[in-house]
Amino acid sequence: MTLALSGQKVLVFGLAKSGVAALRLLRQQGADVTALDARGEDALGAVAHEVKALGATLVSGPTPPGVLASQDLVVVSPGVPLALPEIQAARAAGVAVWGEVELAGRLLSGVPLFGITGTNGKSTTTALTGTLFASGGKRTFVGGNLGRPFSEAAMSPDDWDALVVELSSYQLEGIRTLRPRGAAILNLTPDHIDRYPSHAAYGEAKARIFQQQQAGDFAVVNADDADVLGLARAAKAPVYGFSLTGKPVADAPALAGLAVAEPGGFRLAFLGEHYTLTNRALRGAHNAQNAMAAALLARLGGVTSGEVQAGLDGYPGLPHRLESVRVLDGVEWVNDSKATNVDSVLVALRAFSSGVWLIAGGKGKGAPYAPMVEAGQGKVKGVLTIGDDADTLARAYAGAVQVHACGTLAQAVARARELAERGDKVLLSPACASFDQFKNFEDRGDSFKRLVEAL
Ligand code: ADP
Repeated sequence: MTLALSGQKVLVFGLAKSGVAALRLLRQQGADVTALDARGEDALGAVAHEVKALGATLVSGPTPPGVLASQDLVVVSPGVPLALPEIQAARAAGVAVWGEVELAGRLLSGVPLFGITGTNGKSTTTALTGTLFASGGKRTFVGGNLGRPFSEAAMSPDDWDALVVELSSYQLEGIRTLRPRGAAILNLTPDHIDRYPSHAAYGEAKARIFQQQQAGDFAVVNADDADVLGLARAAKAPVYGFSLTGKPVADAPALAGLAVAEPGGFRLAFLGEHYTLTNRALRGAHNAQNAMAAALLARLGGVTSGEVQAGLDGYPGLPHRLESVRVLDGVEWVNDSKATNVDSVLVALRAFSSGVWLIAGGKGKGAPYAPMVEAGQGKVKGVLTIGDDADTLARAYAGAVQVHACGTLAQAVARARELAERGDKVLLSPACASFDQFKNFEDRGDSFKRLVEAL
């Protein structure tokens, strides 16, 4: 599709990664671009330089009155709430307001798009779906909320046979015409209550992924999640489900087909196909769900069953999510640094049956640790605590299993090396944020990997 952006006055609101990518795209399309960010020029640093080098006008600091309303189009970064008064005012004045994903999608309407959203598992499912399409020989863009901004794909539309895009609820709020050929909602749990007035409003943002779909497209939903199934009612395209139990929760809309987990893999019953899941990067029931969603997207999107199986087997996994780092003297070391809350630790523990030495702690979030203690019964041999919340963790585990106060990750790794026996696993799944001792969860996970590699 050609989009007449040349010479149009376009304002990009928000200059983080996606905003800057949109800015580059708009300049490539010949738009007359103003770039706006609440941060001052010093804070913007290299970004300010790039804005100028691209020939755009930079407006940093507080938004001057009227600057939005004088545009033809405002492109909003996902980090900027659409409810801001100046954005509402621009809309009321008749200015088109698009999210960055909407802009990119309009330039890519000739390429099939596979969109993935949900509260948890988006990145894993997106990366895996990308691997499955690539396994099918398709030139595949993988990005969106994960990795590369979608606008990067739109810089060279002819490069792609398939677009596999992670879509956050914020990004979905900013779409209007985006029409995924396949759209998946993985799950819906309370999240982002800061930005949404209610759970229902959060769900409605997610359901926008189905809004422009038509009969020839398809939707993929978690058939074990009543809220997600409820959202599927809005879909005009046929709805496919995936389920751990094979029994969709009551009140399910009619499903065009179902993927069902089975021991060691899953089946796409409506196609009569079985798939095995032996890849360590996909262990755990949650990953069986992610794998079923990805397989549905890929199979219905034109990848053969053999290619899907090869992709499942070859998927390398994402760092910091149950990432197998090393097996040393029969002990497996697993980096799950992304688990910054108790719920994620519960997901991780479900993936193991026994022999776990759990390294946990950091900057706590105030949620009770009792569910972790309970979920670890019979599986967790001992807990090695680190960081600020070590004492609270120790109190929660008192009387359940041995607790070793280690203070730092380095000490925890050294202690675990002494304690773990052949067949055991050492799992870093902290249930806490990392900011007390690390820059972010990636930094924490990378430190763990370095320490383990050095053993
Ligand atoms: P997102 O991009 O949505 O944050 P990730 O794939 O990065 O998702 O996974 C983040 C965490 O969410 C994982 O570490 C795991 O604890 C949990 N998780 C992953 N997949 C699922 C799922 N299908 N259901 C529930 N929790 C999941």
